[in-house]
Amino acid sequence: MAPEFTFLCPLPNGFHARPASHLATLAGKFISDCTLLNRRNGRTADLKSVLSLIAADIGLKDECNVRVCGDDEQSACRVLEEFIAQELPACDVPLPEISLNGANGALPRSLRSQGLETYCGVPVSRGIGYGNVVIIGGMAPPDFKAEKVADPELEQERVKHGIEGARARIRKKLAGEISSSERAILEAHLAILGDASLTNGILGKIAQGSPASQAILETTEFYSGLLQKAESHYIRERADDLHEIGHEILYEIYGAKLQRKPALTGPSVVVAEKLTPQQLLDLDRTGIRALVMESGGTTSHAVILARSLAIPTLIGVKNLPQLISPGQEVIVDANRGVVIPKLTPTVRRYYERELITQRKRQAALVRDAMAPAITVDGQVIEVAANLSSAEELEPAFSNGADGIGLFRTEMLFAKEHPPSEDEQFEIYAQAARAARGRPVVLRIFDVGADKPAPYLKLPAEDNPFLGFRGVRIYEQHQELVQTQMRAILRASGFGRVHILVPMVATREEILWVKAQLAQAQRELADRQISFDPAMAVGIMVEVPSAAFMLDQLCEEVEFFSIGTNDLVQYFFAADRGNSRVAHLSNVRHPAFLRFLKQIVDQAHQQGKRIGMCGEMAGDILHLPLLLGLGLDGISAASTEIPILKEHISRLSVSDCRSLLSNALQCKNAAEVDSLLAAGTLGSTQSSLINQDLVILSSKSESKEEAIREIVNAFYVEARTNDPDGLEEAVWTREEVYSTGLGHGFAIPHCKSDAVTTESIGVLKLSKPVEWSALDGQLVHTVILLAARESNANGRHMQVFSQLARKLMNEKFRLQLEQAEDADAVLKCLGNELLISS
Ligand code: PEP
Ligand code: MG
Repeated sequence: MAPEFTFLCPLPNGFHARPASHLATLAGKFISDCTLLNRRNGRTADLKSVLSLIAADIGLKDECNVRVCGDDEQSACRVLEEFIAQELPACDVPLPEISLNGANGALPRSLRSQGLETYCGVPVSRGIGYGNVVIIGGMAPPDFKAEKVADPELEQERVKHGIEGARARIRKKLAGEISSSERAILEAHLAILGDASLTNGILGKIAQGSPASQAILETTEFYSGLLQKAESHYIRERADDLHEIGHEILYEIYGAKLQRKPALTGPSVVVAEKLTPQQLLDLDRTGIRALVMESGGTTSHAVILARSLAIPTLIGVKNLPQLISPGQEVIVDANRGVVIPKLTPTVRRYYERELITQRKRQAALVRDAMAPAITVDGQVIEVAANLSSAEELEPAFSNGADGIGLFRTEMLFAKEHPPSEDEQFEIYAQAARAARGRPVVLRIFDVGADKPAPYLKLPAEDNPFLGFRGVRIYEQHQELVQTQMRAILRASGFGRVHILVPMVATREEILWVKAQLAQAQRELADRQISFDPAMAVGIMVEVPSAAFMLDQLCEEVEFFSIGTNDLVQYFFAADRGNSRVAHLSNVRHPAFLRFLKQIVDQAHQQGKRIGMCGEMAGDILHLPLLLGLGLDGISAASTEIPILKEHISRLSVSDCRSLLSNALQCKNAAEVDSLLAAGTLGSTQSSLINQDLVILSSKSESKEEAIREIVNAFYVEARTNDPDGLEEAVWTREEVYSTGLGHGFAIPHCKSDAVTTESIGVLKLSKPVEWSALDGQLVHTVILLAARESNANGRHMQVFSQLARKLMNEKFRLQLEQAEDADAVLKCLGNELLISS
């Protein structure tokens, strides 16, 4: 009788590709047939086939029977039994990290009790987006319907070669330096590619007349479908491995004919290991709702581009392409840094409300952003936009840009051919016209490093960011420089156009550029084309050597713009695209702040204008430092302009100067952060409450929703820029004791610097909610009080006790309950709450 044995599956994630591949490799060493029966579901598997093992859907503790039949059955059975008992449990490398609800505190309060799965990342462009997952990095096959199969045998040969080629490529990768988990995945892929059932499945379809591409796709789809039906959540998610394997074979057969550009067919969440700016530009931008990448620094150009296109973006999300499936609907909350892969009705409801809030907030900020940004002590700060295409002009000016502070023209060069003089002229002139007298700074193309221009055939380099990029390549590509300069000069006749030179390290470089400009001017004059002969020339301060020569450079140019993205990486010797050293490139480090101070002071001593266009300028957190430095202007992603302007209007330059001088004495970035957290906002004259902070007929269905709704009203009114922080502060208090004071009223309150000014919000619920109130009654009216921690004067406690006292009075409660509009609510609360804080 054929020998057999029984075992209980010891693998927590079931029999997925990696352990299956180990077992199949071992079984393949024997000539006997080895069959497995999963007693739980009655499925059988050939032990030598990874795919059939996976398809048997073997979960943890499933009872399985193995029977071996053939010439070497005794030894095969013994070896397999030993392996399963001793080595199989160790065959599974740990799962990619999945953070569960509550473990990281990243989920909003209203969703924390839902047991949701989340994947965490670092938010680099804020916002919320949801749509169907599109994984970039995969390839779309050629249209197989158009293919005709003249010779099935030849087609089968192509497939066999394709499979061998794909296996050879994986073996090569395995021979290189890779992590243990990468190794495990590659080994599993190698085993699947060597699985006879896969090859036979594909060859069989070709024999029936299918072309190779169709046969490959259908066969891998078939196996991936089997995995998707598995009980184990982990095995279901491995279905994507099959797609990847299919693409590996297709790539071998079709190579360059494979289209790498996926089409977005609706609202999409783009997921990629890493993207180049060009890959991002190639996508239909209107379809992208969010972007999630595994790697990429906070100032990599794809990230900068995402920010300027207002695409909510997370980086550092590990293994996402393996954890989700193409087409799956997900939410990306790039305010909190989470991806939520399952959209339950509660999740949808929460995020629909959040998206409405975001829109209202942006509309409110934009309304006020058309005016110049003026500090509390009367200084006007120019807030301009960074952009890289003509399409971004309109959004920039409708967001209140005081000009274009940085036009990254190199993005126009990241195509198959360089743009012609006329093409460039059209775009630059369009910018000049759209600016209507406001300045437009056009940077000469800054290609190299992570900004490619394929036709330039720039050599691959070990250190591209220290290599052949920016102004350094101009001499070798003089004709391109001349063409661009002529285009810029022609556009200068249509507005206030300035020209900016990137990556200047020496005086000679700027002299060369100026000589080129003079030549372009002569040529246009010869062609009798008009231009602005006094067009200002500026230098990007982004290479430290230029900063130390600033006094001499001042003699050569009219203005400077600090490019902190590069400057900080060269200053700390930490590659801006490398997340491992990202912690070093801290723009708030006192060493860097001292450097900036030196640069700004030098320029001002020589009477030159100096602004900042690096990403440091786009974060409101940095504004006190930037105003303290005395910058003449800042330039940032246009979506940030409204909030930057709003924030500037609350700051006083003299306070910011003192803050900066304290920051310069700090010993590290953490000390500077503490200074910033202590707050520098000038006192504003806003009243504690206004009509927009009164919400009537609220549809909130729980205490969590009610608190969030008031916090969101604060956010829309810019009384907080950190709604999550404010919400947490309210809950911290709420967890100590319930603020449901009885009679249907609750007064949640907190002291937190997440609020910009002491504020009160009122919410009247359509349907009362549970609040654990002192008298056990449901709550129908919520009054939220928030004071600033750093300059609280005890007033909010006074207001709290005043309100609490008033609520004891039945007449007052009745009046508040019957107040039908915001005015009536305000009147009822009493004048003492409406006076300035
Ligand atoms: C910078 O370096 O700060 C900058 C604005 O230029 P880029 O990010 O395009 O290199
Ligand atoms: Mg730069």
